[in-house]
Amino acid sequence: MKGLMAGKRGLIMGVANDHSIAWGIAKAVAAQGAEIAFTYQGEAFGRRVKPLADSIGSKLLLPCDVEDTDSTAAVFESLKSEWGSLDFLVHAIGFSDRTQLKGRYVDVTTRDNFVRTMVISAYSFTEVAQLAAPLLNTGGSLLTLTYGGSVRVMPNYNVMGVAKAALEASMRYLAADFGPDGVRVNAISAGPVRTLAGAGIGDARQMFSYQQRNSPLRRTVDIDEIGQSALYLLSDMGSGVTGEVHYVDSGYSIMSMPTMEDLRR
Ligand code: NAD
Repeated sequence: MKGLMAGKRGLIMGVANDHSIAWGIAKAVAAQGAEIAFTYQGEAFGRRVKPLADSIGSKLLLPCDVEDTDSTAAVFESLKSEWGSLDFLVHAIGFSDRTQLKGRYVDVTTRDNFVRTMVISAYSFTEVAQLAAPLLNTGGSLLTLTYGGSVRVMPNYNVMGVAKAALEASMRYLAADFGPDGVRVNAISAGPVRTLAGAGIGDARQMFSYQQRNSPLRRTVDIDEIGQSALYLLSDMGSGVTGEVHYVDSGYSIMSMPTMEDLRR
């Protein structure tokens, strides 16, 4: 098959269902000829991911819970024996106790959930980068997903914002480490999307419609648009880009205040 991703093999982590951002990315890179392996978290998600993987001809579907280091290591053992090398990796994994994604950060944040959120949503990217390192081909590309709550306060995003700040900083350190080997590391900061993870944030509906009204494009983005931007970063089209947080958010992040239309509503 010809296309921007022809001859490239990659792992996509974080598809839960056909609304997942990772699925938007998978469709975009598969349409350009990429061969994809997927991970899934637990059997229930596995049953949802299997038909999606089948629909784009993916043959490698591997269980992985990043809280279980053995399961993460086993993924890369399988990739080593099945493929021997890797061209790209997408990390679209995030989790926090939803009861702490509502209310004042100072009131709701516990030590245990702070650590758990950090491990799953931030450290896991470093861990998979470490495991992928021996397999990555020159020209390889790693990509993670973040949100603007890392740099500015978004109501209810709370500890996830702290984890995304750590994730973005990790991405920059990894970009510096992998650069000499010709491997790039980037993040997409996506605007709000209605997904399982997105629904876990308090007042998600109000946040969604606020960003629709107040983004320069007056709408939110969909998973196919995020997929197209990911395609640029994962393919050789993005060969000069590393260490970057690329905003795919209808321009919301440039605004310093609500639009006048919104203020006059
Ligand atoms: P989603 O619920 O479809 O995907 C989240 C994924 O994380 C799921 O596949 C889930 O299985 C996986 N996951 C959670 N804990 C895990 C663990 N312990 N081990 C392995 N996998 C685990 O939601 P999504 O919105 O597509 O989220 C994908 C990424 O995009 C996340 O990092 C999220 O923070 C980020 N993001 C989402 C939005 C949004 O508005 N939805 C915006 C910006 C960034």
